[in-house]
Amino acid sequence: MRLIMLGPAGSGKGTQAEMLAKKYNIPHISTGDLFRALDSNSDLRKEIKKYMDKGELVPDDLVIKILKERLGKPDCEKGFILDGVPRNVTQAELIKKMGVEIDNVINIEVSDEEVTKRLSSRRVCKNGHIFSTIYPKPKKEGVCDVCGEPLFQRDDDKPEAIKERLKIYHEQTSKLLEYYQNLIIPVNGEQPIEEVFNDIVDGLKWM
Ligand code: AMP
Repeated sequence: MRLIMLGPAGSGKGTQAEMLAKKYNIPHISTGDLFRALDSNSDLRKEIKKYMDKGELVPDDLVIKILKERLGKPDCEKGFILDGVPRNVTQAELIKKMGVEIDNVINIEVSDEEVTKRLSSRRVCKNGHIFSTIYPKPKKEGVCDVCGEPLFQRDDDKPEAIKERLKIYHEQTSKLLEYYQNLIIPVNGEQPIEEVFNDIVDGLKWM
């Protein structure tokens, strides 16, 4: 099962991808997470961070280089869930060129208003655990429940970057809906997490 999760940042696609990865025992591959996991002193990470901090897209060649390396690992043989990639039609074409056939594309639909609310309230720790100033709040304000590290706001969750990310999403990523039109499973992302998950599982088409 080779899946792609589409939906704006803050649509909950990372959470859903994680749940699907557990259910079907295939890896959840998020390019954002792959970038954040790069050695912070490496030139590659510094180059990529310049784009990420502004909410801009990282150049396609860098994205595909890092993705190709990840997809070459043995745990991807049974399938995988792509989250945050492809972000545009060029990346979709490059993925196809790698010989990767996609089975299902899940599109999680969430309004811009809801995305802005969710992203601007998001707080993370350096290990990537996610909380919110609205829901779910950490037990102690500003401290991660899981590892006790301080919580902070990602630079790309600040208002100007959110605006930029939504603009890019509508300009570029939405064209992917056309590109993958026969594979798309639309899902209402403004429901409780479990209901979104059930809709996805019910919608999946097994090849
Ligand atoms: P995310 O964690 O998916 O929200 O991604 C965080 C940031 O990483 C984005 O705002 C982009 O700067 C960058 N990024 C992640 N995936 C891609 C991609 N497929 N293409 C270009 N940039 C990406």
